Amino acid sequence: MTVTDAVDTGEALVRSRLQELLAAHDPAHSTPVEFLGARFDAGLAWVSFPEGSGGLGVNPGLQGLVERELRRVGAPDESERNVIGYGMAAPTILVHGTEEQRARYLRPLFTCEEVWCQLFSEPGAGSDVAGLGSRAVRDGDEWVVNGQKVWTTLAHTARWGLLVARTDPDLPKHRGLTYFVVDMLAPGVEVRPLRQITGDAEFNEVFFTDVRIPDAQRLDAVGAGWRVVTTTLMNERVAIGGGVPSRSSGPIHDAVRIWHGVTDKSPVQRERLMALWVRAEVGRLTNMRARELRRAGTPGPEGSVAKLMGAELNKHVYELCVDLLGMTGTLYPTDYEMHRPDRSLFSGGADVRMTFLRSRANSIEGGTSEIMRNILGERVLGLPGEPRADKDLPWSQVPRS
Ligand SMILES: Cc1cc2nc3c(=O)[nH]c(=O)nc-3n(C[C@H](O)[C@H](O)[C@H](O)COP(=O)(O)OP(=O)(O)OC[C@H]3O[C@@H](n4cnc5c(N)ncnc54)[C@H](O)[C@@H]3O)c2cc1C
Repeated sequence: MTVTDAVDTGEALVRSRLQELLAAHDPAHSTPVEFLGARFDAGLAWVSFPEGSGGLGVNPGLQGLVERELRRVGAPDESERNVIGYGMAAPTILVHGTEEQRARYLRPLFTCEEVWCQLFSEPGAGSDVAGLGSRAVRDGDEWVVNGQKVWTTLAHTARWGLLVARTDPDLPKHRGLTYFVVDMLAPGVEVRPLRQITGDAEFNEVFFTDVRIPDAQRLDAVGAGWRVVTTTLMNERVAIGGGVPSRSSGPIHDAVRIWHGVTDKSPVQRERLMALWVRAEVGRLTNMRARELRRAGTPGPEGSVAKLMGAELNKHVYELCVDLLGMTGTLYPTDYEMHRPDRSLFSGGADVRMTFLRSRANSIEGGTSEIMRNILGERVLGLPGEPRADKDLPWSQVPRS
């Protein structure tokens, strides 16, 4: 069978499953949980996943067809409440989980009955996440975890967390890590809000005090944590920056809309808008090409290109938006009380002035722009790597403050 035949066969299967799903579950009269559950069972959650795990084992390029069709008929979509579940936990569990773990976690993740968060960053380990210090010590069939995580998006709504902890401090930093699924409702887990520049607290700090995790909730082998982390991070970058919206939609649409309302239009601002529109279109086409070339499996370093481009573009677009608003751009649209939203505001709030402030985080979250440039330089362009003096030292001997 040629690749084209495989895509055609896959497309026919996807179309017939869509038809069956919509015939049996009217999107207008089903609850989100009911509809999303049926969608998962039909293999239309993530079409490239295997049958039984929410997919049909077909080309991932066909996912766009499912999303478009379901959006067109107004089918329930709760993905914004579970961005980390959809973008990172699901592909990580698929690759590194056991059959039992896939069966336990994937369906309620997709229906958003169980929200997920990502517990990687620590006060002393962000960009250098492999240097983290939270400890997990084995005790029979359980692990006992102590430590602190930070910037944990949606930890306050999450049922499960993707946790990476140090299980052997005497090995070099990348080799002494193990990856767990932690119950965020377990005794000893404390979640405290952290307020952002927008006034909201999407993220939190999370403290672990003698938290017990059954060994059955370990993902992959003891000491293989870095391999699992890499899968999560590669998927995170694609989830953040790899979307293919329709032309002239998303952030650039906000800028064009505001431009049309400006009475005193300056040629300088028009040139800024034009340049940003072109960059948005180039980014969209680049992501489209990457999506067509992508095969099922963990994405490669090209996700860092998308993440870098998207973050820098968003920041510039919303700078232009507030500039175009003039003095109105300096006013804040809400009361500036601290809210703890039940979804990530990554794609913006209700008002562009809020989105402008939120966009400042785009070049930090999911890996900073400097780190994306390092990955791009080393892994895509093949430039010499930066010096890594602590790479082979046992973690316990690495000097730290
Ligand atoms: C809105 C938001 C949501 C987040 N959500 C989560 C989450 O859910 N879970 C989670 O685990 N984390 C989350 N993070 C944390 C995020 O991943 C880290 O903030 C990020 O990786 C940077 O780490 P750091 O803040 O410790 O900065 P540092 O690593 O201390 O970096 C400080 C500065 O130094 C630069 N720098 C560091 N190392 C290098 C280098 N080798 N070369 C060049 N420059 C370098 C950085 O680019 C940055 O400018 C979130 C962050 C934000 C802003």
